[in-house]
Amino acid sequence: MVYETEKPEETFELGKKMGAKAKKGEVYCLEGDLGVGKTVFTQGFASGLGISGPVNSPTFTILQQYEDGRMPLYHFDVYRIGDVEEMEEIGYEDCFYGEGVSLIEWPSLVKEILPEEAVWIKIEKDLGKGFDYRKITVEERQGT
Ligand code: ADP
Ligand code: MG
Repeated sequence: MVYETEKPEETFELGKKMGAKAKKGEVYCLEGDLGVGKTVFTQGFASGLGISGPVNSPTFTILQQYEDGRMPLYHFDVYRIGDVEEMEEIGYEDCFYGEGVSLIEWPSLVKEILPEEAVWIKIEKDLGKGFDYRKITVEERQGT
């Protein structure tokens, strides 16, 4: 499925719709360059889960957990991860296979430990279509 947005609010809205439909145990892999809108999408997603507090990019903490929605949200930003083993230390398995929903920015850096079944979301710019244009491709993948 391909979506196109023209401003941050529209990316937020798409995230919100997907967050509202998200189910326990789902893993969302969010790809795209720095500054493309992954965190904007995640903020919408959190809002769709009923999370009210501020959601920021947890770049320096890898995992940020939000408990005040209809189920827990585990927000990973693995941009600065050194080794995939750090994911073990964080206890990612309790997140991926637990009571909430996981969302991972920069999933390609931790490929080894991603579940076979995940929703992949790729956000891309196309400067020919304007500075605020984003193409958002959503794909459910089973296996690799
Ligand atoms: P990332 O987490 O991918 O590094 P952020 O979500 O932190 O990126 O930042 C995206 C930036 O791009 C924000 O400043 C946002 O306002 C801006 N922006 C402009 N147009 C859009 C759009 N259509 N969708 C999402 N963000 C947009
Ligand atoms: Mg971010």
